Amino acid sequence: MTTASTSDAGLALLGGALLRSDPFPSWPVFGAEDEAAILEVLRSGSWFLGDRVAEIERRFPQFHQARHGIAVSSGTAALQVALEAAGVRLGDEVIVPSYTFVATAASVALVGAVPVFVDVDPATYCIDPASVEAAVTERTRAVVAVHFAGQPADLDALGRLCRSRGILLIEDAAQAHCAEWRDRRVGAIGDLGTFSFQASKNLNAGEGGFILSDDEELAEAAWSIHNCGRTRTGAWYEHALVGGNYRMSEFQAALLLSQMRNLEDQSRLRSRNASLLSERLSEIEGIRPLDVDARVSRHAYHLFVFRYDPAAFAGVSRERFLEALSAEGIPCASGYRPLYREPAFQARFRDYPLDSPAFGGRPDYAAVHHPVTERICAGEAVWLTQNLLLGSEEDTASIAEAVAKVQQHARRLAD
Ligand SMILES: *Cc1c(COP(=O)(O)O)cnc(C)c1O
Repeated sequence: MTTASTSDAGLALLGGALLRSDPFPSWPVFGAEDEAAILEVLRSGSWFLGDRVAEIERRFPQFHQARHGIAVSSGTAALQVALEAAGVRLGDEVIVPSYTFVATAASVALVGAVPVFVDVDPATYCIDPASVEAAVTERTRAVVAVHFAGQPADLDALGRLCRSRGILLIEDAAQAHCAEWRDRRVGAIGDLGTFSFQASKNLNAGEGGFILSDDEELAEAAWSIHNCGRTRTGAWYEHALVGGNYRMSEFQAALLLSQMRNLEDQSRLRSRNASLLSERLSEIEGIRPLDVDARVSRHAYHLFVFRYDPAAFAGVSRERFLEALSAEGIPCASGYRPLYREPAFQARFRDYPLDSPAFGGRPDYAAVHHPVTERICAGEAVWLTQNLLLGSEEDTASIAEAVAKVQQHARRLAD
């Protein structure tokens, strides 16, 4: 790796030498075993509901310490099926964080229910249990807790709250493969949990998803909904429920099984590098990595996220900081926008046939404002993707060196 000394080089954005020219490890990581696994499915001619799907439906729940599991076509499909299985219907409300990927809330709308957004915790960017409590109404049917960036949300507080109100807790663990809350893997700590195997995620089959549950009835309902409303023992053209086709293919399952061989090692490496990076970044004034709750025994680090304070960078905006850091050879991004502001939700609920107690009338997102989410999105969050944590210690240290370099020359960046 080539590094330039931080003292004499100007910012790459302004024509100086960049701090690192080598790329970070690329993603996905694959090899001959993956190739063989795919070819084997191809040549077998058994491309759906075969041995590989059956095998991943044994292996993944075991790996995540859950009793039951259903392989599905995407993380979005997993959420839709889980919500349907939880009995979420037209007119029901489902509480979701406003700082998350669109699928967390879109899936609620897609099953006919109303997403009720709540703010997140400023220290972890995970759903804030106090805000959830304040948003519960007589129509609340479920809460979807997102394990943002791979850090489990406060499952103790949310579990207590949901149990006492008779509400189901769904874990959106799309970013949280291997993550643990108080020494237990996430996914079946709530009533249902969902995962994604989309290409960017820490376990990748291009597309794919998974549902976990310890509750046999919920799992059976989810199985039926994901497979055209069939029952496991019924005839092929017998349909007990209205379901869709959200099945995973044998190709996806085969790739998952071979990719799972690397998951534990990659996950450990991300954790080691994340600790090092946290340490280094914390030494820089105005940079604060997100807090990790002491009850999180394992963080999945789908993202490494830190808080940026322009006051320590001569008032340079987060956007300008991101440009400067990218130019130094560190890919980085600003992340989500407040979800309730997306035109999608206002448009979807314009003609909704029912009132929603959470809104005191028809669902209307125009008046929603969450101060924490808005501050994060407006200029605080800096995202690094998981593959940046798959390099050497030197690779990891170079991220902090580049941030320090930008700080050192911040005055020249004033926009
Ligand atoms: C990726 C993601 C999803 C959706 O998964 P897909 O497989 O892309 O449909 C849902 N929730 C969160 C938090 C995600 O990051």
